[in-house]
Amino acid sequence: MIGIPELYTHTEKIEKRKRLFLQKERCCGCEYCIEVCPRDILIKSSELNHKLTYPPMVKDGGKCTFCQLCEYVCPSYSIYVLEDVKK
Ligand code: SF4
Ligand code: SF4
Repeated sequence: MIGIPELYTHTEKIEKRKRLFLQKERCCGCEYCIEVCPRDILIKSSELNHKLTYPPMVKDGGKCTFCQLCEYVCPSYSIYVLEDVKK
């Protein structure tokens, strides 16, 4: 995998061991992730990417449950949850 330019650390608690990743440059700006998030923590950013769309940003990462709904609906595989490899 090519480098992940954006990393949102949602918790420093070791027990969760999951993180939400967003590759802004892949985003097509559909906003599906924003609409589907049950915690309502994603918002549209004001920063254009190379596709001239506005990727989402996390407004309150501490509320993320890592449910992966955003990942499931994302058509460009831009946002996803991975297990944290650090212990
Ligand atoms: S993993 Fe779930 S709670 Fe976290 S941003 Fe995605 S949809 Fe929202
Ligand atoms: S669902 Fe994916 S492509 Fe659509 S706005 Fe969210 S991150 Fe971007």
